[in-house]
Amino acid sequence: MTPSRKIPLDIQNQIRQRAKYLCEYCHTSELWQYVRFTVDYIIPISQSGADSFENLCLACFHCNRRKSDKTSGFDSLTNDIVSLYHPRKHLWNEHFIWSYDKLYIIGTSPIGRVTEKTLEFNRERAIRIRKEDIIVDRHPPREDNINANKT
Ligand SMILES: [Zn+2]
Repeated sequence: MTPSRKIPLDIQNQIRQRAKYLCEYCHTSELWQYVRFTVDYIIPISQSGADSFENLCLACFHCNRRKSDKTSGFDSLTNDIVSLYHPRKHLWNEHFIWSYDKLYIIGTSPIGRVTEKTLEFNRERAIRIRKEDIIVDRHPPREDNINANKT
């Protein structure tokens, strides 16, 4: 969750640019939203997460709220507690794919499945918005924007 401490605006803008204005979890674009997305501490400060650029990511309100201070979840397929997707350590394409109709995010690994479920990537409202965004060519995000934030 976005902490009460204020992240300087220039750092927030660097995070936006690094993320190509996509929520780094569900890949919703900030560009078509009325309000800016939030900055998420990937590892919460309360769990000794660093107050550093590398521990920050762009997250839509929904993903940020659902993630809260969680860093792991239960994968019912493997019966394991696994880490949530970490935008700096993991490649999105290695843990998620879009469904054929591009409406659903499908977790393809334990990390992907747990993150998709925990953050409710495929909530009804998101599906409705993706359906409309496909019509006006705003969805899915362009392939060259995905994983562009990895060095
Ligand atoms: Zn999101």
